[in-house]
Amino acid sequence: MEAVERKQLLRKSKVEYLTGRGVVTLNLAQGCSHRCKYPCYAYLMARRFGEVDGYEDWCEPKPVEGVLEQLSRELEDHMFQSTGPMGKAYGTTFRLFRERVTKGDVERALASTMREVEKFQAVGGTVERIDGPEGMVVWRVFVPAKSPGQARARLGTFKHRIRERVVPAGFDVLSPKFCAPVKKVHLSFSTDPFMHGRLDIRELSLQAASLINAHGTPVSVLTKGDLPTPEELDTHGIIHRRNAFGISLASVDEAFREKWEPGAAPYAERIEALRKLSEAGVRTWASLEPFPALAGEDHPYSVLEGVLESIPFVDRIIFGRWNYAVAKPCNVDDERGFYNGAAAFVREWCDARDISCRIKRGTETEEEAA
Ligand code: SF4
Repeated sequence: MEAVERKQLLRKSKVEYLTGRGVVTLNLAQGCSHRCKYPCYAYLMARRFGEVDGYEDWCEPKPVEGVLEQLSRELEDHMFQSTGPMGKAYGTTFRLFRERVTKGDVERALASTMREVEKFQAVGGTVERIDGPEGMVVWRVFVPAKSPGQARARLGTFKHRIRERVVPAGFDVLSPKFCAPVKKVHLSFSTDPFMHGRLDIRELSLQAASLINAHGTPVSVLTKGDLPTPEELDTHGIIHRRNAFGISLASVDEAFREKWEPGAAPYAERIEALRKLSEAGVRTWASLEPFPALAGEDHPYSVLEGVLESIPFVDRIIFGRWNYAVAKPCNVDDERGFYNGAAAFVREWCDARDISCRIKRGTETEEEAA
C-alpha cells in the first residue's frame, strides 16, 4: 500500500479542549475514508499545503511509512527528556539526517559538530550521542535552566550554531524544537484512527495505543468509525486507567449521516461500541460537533435532546456549533439565539447527570450568552 513520510509524528495539540503542557496529537495516516461533507477541515488543510491531489485522493488514506518504529523513537526521546540525568534540566533531541549517508559523511559531521558540543558543555550543557537509524546522527541534549523559557533560549543558541556553522551540506536538522514530556496522546487531529471498515488503519491504531500506554502515557481517542471492543483493548494491553475513548455524534438520524458523513459508521453502531467500553469501566466521551442548527418538533432542542439521551453513560460531552458556510442544515431564523440556547441546554442536561461538559469557543456569543 502507498505510504507517506512524516518527519515528526507527535505534535503539540491544537485541539481546543485537549491542551496543556505535554498534550500531543498523533496522526497515523494521511487522508480519511469517511468522506465528510461539512467540509472536512483536515482535508482543506492538506489541500492548502499541497499534500493531496483532491478529495478522492484524500478519501484513500495512506499510512505513514514506518509509523510504529518512528513513534517508538519519538516516545523514547520524550521520555528521556522527562527523566534526564541532570535533575531539574530541560532537553531536546537533535537529529542530523539525510537520505543517503556514508560512513565518511557521519564521521565528518561528528568531528565538526564536536567542537560546538564542547563549547556547549563548557557552559553546563550535556550532550549524549545515541545510535540513530541508518542515515541519522542523533544527540540528546540537556541544559540546566530555571524555566522552560530559559532552556529554550539556551538550546536555541546551540541549535543555531549547529545549523548555521556545522551541518554539512545535504544534511537537515530534524526535531530541533524544545519538547515537554508527553503526558497524553490524542488520536487523531487530522485523520480518523478507527476508520469504518479499514482494518489496516485499525490495527495500526491499536498497536500505536498499546505502545503509548506501555510508556506510561494515556491515550485519548475520537472516531466516527469502529471503536475497539473491551476485549481488543485487553489483548493489545491498552489498559492505562486514564485512557478515554470518544465518538463524534452530530445526529442520530441515519439520513443525516448518509448525507454528511457517508463513509462513517452508522450512529447506532458507534453508540453501542461506546456503551460497551463504558460498561467495561473505560472512560468515554462524545463530541457533538459540528452540531446543526435544527430545531425539533416538540421543543427547540428536542433534536439535540435525542442525541444526548442516546449517550447518558458518557463521562464527558463536547458541544460545538456548525461553523462552515456551505449549504448547512438549518431550520431556524436566529442561529445565534439557537446556539446560545442549545449550549445552555447541554450544560444543564450534563449538570443534572454529573457529566463533565465543554462548550466549544464561538458556539455561544457573549452578548446573548446566559
Ligand atoms: S472523520 Fe474527520 S478526518 Fe475523516 S473525513 Fe470526516 S472530518 Fe475529515
